[in-house]
Amino acid sequence: MRINKTLFKEITRCKTYYGLLEIYRNKKFAFLNDFTEEELKEKLDLMYDPKTYDDLLANDKEFYMKEYYDDVEKEGINVINKLLNLSFKYKEVEKQTKLEFKDKSGHYFETYADGYLEDKESIYLLEVKSCSSNTIIGKYNRFIYEDGIYKLTNKKDEKTEKDLKHLYNRFSDVGKYIYDATFTYYLSTKNNPGNKNIKVYLAVLNSDYILNIKNNFDNIYPKDENGNYVMSVFDVTNVVKENLTFLIQDMNKLINLIQTNKYFPPILGTHCGYKKQESCMFTPICYKPFETKGSIIEYYRQMRYEDMNNGKKLLSDVTYDELTTEKTKLQRSCFVNDERFINIDKIAAGIDIIKYPIYYLDFETFQSPLPRFFGERPNAQSLFQFSLHIETKEGICDIDKDHFSFLANDYNDCRKKLCEELIKLIDLENGGTVIVYNQTFEKQRIKELMEFYPEYKKKLQIIDDHIFDLMYLLVGNKKMFENLGYDDDLFNFYDNKLRGSFSIKKVLPLFSSLSYQNLDVKNGLEAQEAYSKFRYMSTEDIEEERQKLIEYCKLDTWSMVVILNGLKKLINKKNAK
Ligand code: SF4
Repeated sequence: MRINKTLFKEITRCKTYYGLLEIYRNKKFAFLNDFTEEELKEKLDLMYDPKTYDDLLANDKEFYMKEYYDDVEKEGINVINKLLNLSFKYKEVEKQTKLEFKDKSGHYFETYADGYLEDKESIYLLEVKSCSSNTIIGKYNRFIYEDGIYKLTNKKDEKTEKDLKHLYNRFSDVGKYIYDATFTYYLSTKNNPGNKNIKVYLAVLNSDYILNIKNNFDNIYPKDENGNYVMSVFDVTNVVKENLTFLIQDMNKLINLIQTNKYFPPILGTHCGYKKQESCMFTPICYKPFETKGSIIEYYRQMRYEDMNNGKKLLSDVTYDELTTEKTKLQRSCFVNDERFINIDKIAAGIDIIKYPIYYLDFETFQSPLPRFFGERPNAQSLFQFSLHIETKEGICDIDKDHFSFLANDYNDCRKKLCEELIKLIDLENGGTVIVYNQTFEKQRIKELMEFYPEYKKKLQIIDDHIFDLMYLLVGNKKMFENLGYDDDLFNFYDNKLRGSFSIKKVLPLFSSLSYQNLDVKNGLEAQEAYSKFRYMSTEDIEEERQKLIEYCKLDTWSMVVILNGLKKLINKKNAK
């Protein structure tokens, strides 16, 4: 069997993956010991549509961010060459140095190194990742900075020790990168007849870097005003050496798995990456039993893996006493009694804070790994659009007539125009409220605009001071409601149809028949993708795409109008009784 790095990481996620992969690849010709034809058919029907034979697990979306990640790789190579006086060269994946090793059981392990260099005494390996340096440095400074390079700390206090542990956990936010580098390191030890000294480096985006070029049309990233490069380089040689034990253990497990050639029932856990970017492709199969309404996975902000692996499927399968938060207890009770929970008084008290005119605001951004515009850091959320519905007096807001928006005309920097338009439209001189949904995102963007355009700081600060988070009316907020005289930490509103999520797309159908389903752009990620296409589109094509984006963002702010009105109606109904 040929096992590249990606396949290795996938198969060694858990014992189940191997069996499912055998079925997925070989369909009805799959062979697994002790696996019946009925079992095979059952799994196949979940992988391929029994009528059309369509692949139900296929994810054939073109990955529009690839060129952005390629640019990061080029910059990583550029920076390490400057820092260490080396001569790594950027190459397309197929042209990169291939490291290969055939183990004694006859399996081939292989990978391409992002950067590979050899001189008389040493081999230099480079992994480039698009994560931020803060992720690698950790909360308690796992690494120290010396001569332009980060090296593993010698500090051994309790906090650093805890932080260091994450490095060796392949499923942690930092451990996954170290594990990748360890795989490459392992194969290079097998391709090192001269027993050279192997050095391993990781280059990631520098969280401290601030781009100080006005129009960076040529994608160049000089040192910033504080002398930072756009990429940070970590010497992870000692880390991967220590991590090798874990990787070899995984490799042995994998070889055993292939020899055993069996299907093992799933044991669910964080290794599945459920609903995360790095989610296992077989989650639709292994999590199928939990797709039901009232599933145990609906518990708010907690995955009860132990219970799930012990056969518990529903919210009600967990006893009341086993639940540790007020919110999850409330969810259970709503499910068991098939009822909606509303704390009318709290919602009414929250709504009382809102003053007219109301400005319902929503931003759309594009997250580029390398900064594109002046003042931005790597992985900045670049604003390119906002939608605004204005309700001047209670009940006076029309979906079209009272809608205002701003959207970039092209791929160039539009932030200043956006900022000016925002300030022009939101007039808080005589009071008012800016309503957003889940305020952290909008507040952060406004804070960034203040940094980019200090001349507008005062006006932006006023907008920021008037922000009200509509989601708080539903999900609650301890601090806000304590100030209003409520000391519980419950939801203010819970309906079983929410299924544990308060996203605007889940809440809207409870108050209206409107839906995102008929739109061309249906969510924030699709909005990002649509905007990214502006880069190469003709003016006419951009205009077509713009209309789709405007419709999408418009529904976001109109949804807020609908939800607030819906909540007010609930209050009025209660008061009328
Ligand atoms: S979803 Fe989880 S349990 Fe199933 S194969 Fe993937 S990692 Fe294993």
